[in-house]
Amino acid sequence: MALEPAAGPAKGRTLVRNIGLLLSGDLARPVLEADAILVEDGVIAAIGRDAEVRDRGPFDAVIDCHGSAVAPGLVDSHVHPVLGDWTPRQNQLGWVESFLNGGVTTMVSAGEVHSPGRPKDLVGLKAHAVFAQRSFHNLRPAGVKVLAGAPVLEKGMVEADFAELAAAGVTLLGEVGLGSVKAGYEAREMIAWARKHGIQSTIHTGGPSVPGSGYIDKDTVLEADADIIGHINGGHTSLSEAHVCELCERSSRAIEIVHNGNERVAIAAAQAARDLGVLHRVILGTDSPAGSGVQPLGILRMISLLAGLGGIAPEAAIACATGNTARIRNLDAGLIEVGRAADLLFLDRAQHSAGRDLLHSIELGDIPGIGMVMIDGAVRCGRSRNTPPAERVPELLHA
Ligand SMILES: [Zn+2]
Repeated sequence: MALEPAAGPAKGRTLVRNIGLLLSGDLARPVLEADAILVEDGVIAAIGRDAEVRDRGPFDAVIDCHGSAVAPGLVDSHVHPVLGDWTPRQNQLGWVESFLNGGVTTMVSAGEVHSPGRPKDLVGLKAHAVFAQRSFHNLRPAGVKVLAGAPVLEKGMVEADFAELAAAGVTLLGEVGLGSVKAGYEAREMIAWARKHGIQSTIHTGGPSVPGSGYIDKDTVLEADADIIGHINGGHTSLSEAHVCELCERSSRAIEIVHNGNERVAIAAAQAARDLGVLHRVILGTDSPAGSGVQPLGILRMISLLAGLGGIAPEAAIACATGNTARIRNLDAGLIEVGRAADLLFLDRAQHSAGRDLLHSIELGDIPGIGMVMIDGAVRCGRSRNTPPAERVPELLHA
């Protein structure tokens, strides 16, 4: 298990060349006409044609992609971390590192709800949130950026509590509905205070995920008006398809679809968003660790589900897991764009897939193979231990 202090970005200049397909993560322009990237001190410094970018040497390292694809690192919009790379829900160590091997470079906490003895009094819940924020800020499991410190709303919170949390560095709320605040009007007031102080909110949608979780119906979601309609396809028990489609239409908030939800409704929600012309609002998560366990390939599986069974274009499904989430959650990664963090996923068609190429293989429902993952310019893993083997794997050469 690799636990290490949050280091700054990797120093130096890396040329990434011979990219066969460059996926931007931007829904409006998902494929870029370029085959090289210059990474400088952990940031994307240039994107272009090999010959032009190569002119900007010397480099400290060169990554030859051998024709494989590059995409932004995947963002899991909905996880429940506890401490470092350990989850008591499934009594498992190293789950975050396993997600890195599934292409995830950033995870966003929807509440540290599995913490044993989680405090529910106001002083305790605020301290717990600040502790989680600091802990994951200071320590990145396997290099993965875990944005945590997401308090669960409890009755009795007042605006000053949100001001205090924000001043202490808290930027997220845990899933609304998992604590004692379940009524729409009550949640709405607290969510508005959170928003006023720069804290983003997510609401639990659907039936209880595990005993002790809540039931939140369509009208409560609309009334509470959280920034993100968390697991719109339930976690696991979903609202009816009609109510989910109504939420896509009547709310203007982010539509979060998770692996640990109802897969049939996942497809219905994505198609409703596409047909309404609001696919840019769709973001993906796993909601792990949950009762179904942890899914290191959960985000890749969501991409293949939406593309393979849902008829969403594979490059659009990838944008839902990268650029859409980056924009909605104000992340500095998630898009192949100059100035963004160099969180890069190197992938290719899995060996022996029936698909003609990477995108076609995803369209056929296959999981791609990951050959390398980079976070802030540092290579965090080579060929994934969890995906099927990629046909072509990039090679790291020191210049
Ligand atoms: Zn939930």
